[in-house]
Amino acid sequence: MSVAQYDAIWLNARLFTASHHGIIEDGALAIIGDKIAYCGTRADLPPYNASQTYDCAGRWITPGLIDCHTHLVFGGNRANEFEMRLNGATYEQIAKAGGGIVSTVKATRETPLETLIEQALPRLDCFINEGITTIEIKSGYGLDTKTEVKMLKAARALAKKRGVNITTTFLGAHALPLEANGDKDAYIDLVCNEMLPAIVAECLADSVDAFCEGIGFSVAQTRRVFEAAHKYNLPVKLHAEQLSNLGGAIMAAEFNAQSCDHIEYIDEAGVKAMAGAGSVAVLLPGAYYFIREKQKPPVSLFRAHNVPMALASDCNPGSSPMLSLLLTLNMGATLFSMTVQECLEAVTINAAKALGQAAHIGSLETGKFADFAIWNVENINELVYFIGRNPLHQRIFRGKA
Ligand SMILES: [Zn+2]
Repeated sequence: MSVAQYDAIWLNARLFTASHHGIIEDGALAIIGDKIAYCGTRADLPPYNASQTYDCAGRWITPGLIDCHTHLVFGGNRANEFEMRLNGATYEQIAKAGGGIVSTVKATRETPLETLIEQALPRLDCFINEGITTIEIKSGYGLDTKTEVKMLKAARALAKKRGVNITTTFLGAHALPLEANGDKDAYIDLVCNEMLPAIVAECLADSVDAFCEGIGFSVAQTRRVFEAAHKYNLPVKLHAEQLSNLGGAIMAAEFNAQSCDHIEYIDEAGVKAMAGAGSVAVLLPGAYYFIREKQKPPVSLFRAHNVPMALASDCNPGSSPMLSLLLTLNMGATLFSMTVQECLEAVTINAAKALGQAAHIGSLETGKFADFAIWNVENINELVYFIGRNPLHQRIFRGKA
């Protein structure tokens, strides 16, 4: 009988697999190189040798957590407009007053590449310290070719500074820069004909996103961005129906969007379109909380139409200065009434789907990357229940601690 040769094995663990295997009590997880070679009960283990054996003492193992929507790279911060918000100014009022995104654009343009990387690292470390092994980072604070390229280069560079999988998203259609003088169509020309080709030439983006909203871009303008993205075979995702229901998600479905994000105001027709396209609903309770929105995303509609739900930090300086995915989990449960299981799947397998990477990451399954987190918790609910406690015991990325 052949004997399996594992590089390492973790025994006496409870596994939240985020796969059809569900929860496995008295589980074992073994790796060969950077891949999972066994995930199941200890009783079913084949005969094996392992170079290293770890006793988890009953701790829980989950897939490495995935934050599938962030704006982690940016210049400056917006602590100065925080009190304006507290005094009741809305997202739209701050944007119209020349604050908001425009002030971050100015700071990001003025910040050199190396400084952008340096300033993003401590934020990235907040996530890594909570067991995150994959994080998505968007551009969108440059709004000119040079700075959009710089932001995406910074995002790519971060992956060389830390053991973490980073996916990048070009979000040139995030806001209108001041120099566009209100001409959104001409700016979309620039996004499609100059920025995107420059970014594709240097392979800086894994997907393309846009902000489809009254204060962002119309459905027709967003469609042009998506057509350009598809010309370069880049998948798309969308900031949609955050402040109103423009029907962005229905249009995005025509392009088989990986995800529609925010979607507090989406209606049933939009949810059905997402279901048909296989788009993931990426819910961002940090932004909902921080800008004190009243409209919650229709979680029951996503359930009814089997639209997978993900949760993400939306880490950004304006509407969600959120540096904790564990707090995001708690908010998904307390603010959006998601179940513990939904919350955990929302930052593992469903977040992987939102990034188009579910074949490789997001669950504990043989053949997937050995990205996982070991937690000092008795009950898996603790990951969602506690506020301000980080129970991470160990984080494994591509088979390495
Ligand atoms: Zn966002």
